[in-house]
Amino acid sequence: MPYDFIQVADNLYYFTGSNINAMDIISLANEFNRIFWLYWEAAGKQLYTFSWYNSFFWVGVWCLLCFVLELMLPRRLDYKVVKRKGFWLDIFYVIFNDFLIMGLGFFAFMWVFEKAYLAGLSSIGIDSTVIFEVHHWPLWAQILLLFVIVDLMEFLAHYAMHRFNFLWAFHKIHHAQEEIGFASSRHFHWGELFVFKPFIYLPLSLLGYTAKEYTILVLTLVYFAAFFSHTNIRLNFGFFNYLFITPQTHQWHHAKNMPHPHRYGVNFASVLPIWDVLIGTFYLPKNKDEAPELGVDDNEDMPTTFLGQFVYPFVFLFSKGKQKDNVFESSLQPENAATQPVRQATSTNTKTRKKKPTKKRKK
Ligand SMILES: [Zn+2]
Ligand SMILES: [Zn+2]
Repeated sequence: MPYDFIQVADNLYYFTGSNINAMDIISLANEFNRIFWLYWEAAGKQLYTFSWYNSFFWVGVWCLLCFVLELMLPRRLDYKVVKRKGFWLDIFYVIFNDFLIMGLGFFAFMWVFEKAYLAGLSSIGIDSTVIFEVHHWPLWAQILLLFVIVDLMEFLAHYAMHRFNFLWAFHKIHHAQEEIGFASSRHFHWGELFVFKPFIYLPLSLLGYTAKEYTILVLTLVYFAAFFSHTNIRLNFGFFNYLFITPQTHQWHHAKNMPHPHRYGVNFASVLPIWDVLIGTFYLPKNKDEAPELGVDDNEDMPTTFLGQFVYPFVFLFSKGKQKDNVFESSLQPENAATQPVRQATSTNTKTRKKKPTKKRKK
């Protein structure tokens, strides 16, 4: 996967040069436009050119593997792999978010963000962002370090998306899914990428890495774990649950009824659950067969079409959402009502919950 992106990125550096006034919005927009279409052309070639280094090929292989696993070991027997709620919308999201936004727009966006960031620093007299140089380290050590930093930053960003309403408005689209499968990992609002991904890059810039290198890392390491963690399979991963993200732990991140007292959610990890263990948000019930009902408190009010979900955060933020708190109501229950089952969840359950008065977050 990395090879082609590196090659494309190097070609772009060669083509574009860097003599733009990076604080000028018009020139930044032009630069975005230029990079986007150059990359579009390069990515388009990958679509119809077979190569072992072709990233699209490996995404396809990985999806197929997750798909076969779902057919062989379904966790939720009532979810049909293809006929489950939202399957085709999820597939559309894979195409929209990964091929269009992530593969193309995100690449160009990070390119432009880096230019604006460096120009901004230089305008206040800072000419170098590097405070600790690690390029002389062996490659494996550099990749390991970058991976741990990116994973920690992803974790913090994910936590922030659950913690702050204006971010939750975007992230809620991912959580409003009532049935999930491998493709559900890409069912999220495109705005998420632009809200926090650039900031995850900032610590890497302190180590002397470019936005190009960061983009490649995001498009490789974190990517495959996301597909896998949403796969609808019945497997007990045992101790592995504490080492890497698994479908077994991530399903609890999607629980409609959060285990008390986790008011903002559990299992925020992108890849490494160690961060959850450290701050106390790791959750795995003793009964490994337990499976939560999925969704959000007000699922019945959430849009189910792509267009509806596209505009949802903006409508949410400029209307009723301003007053709403993203805290999971169930987590505020004093008793253990939060972990109520699960497989036999009914719509009556949802209706009852809706009638409850909204509780204020305790300060
Ligand atoms: Zn989340
Ligand atoms: Zn998820």
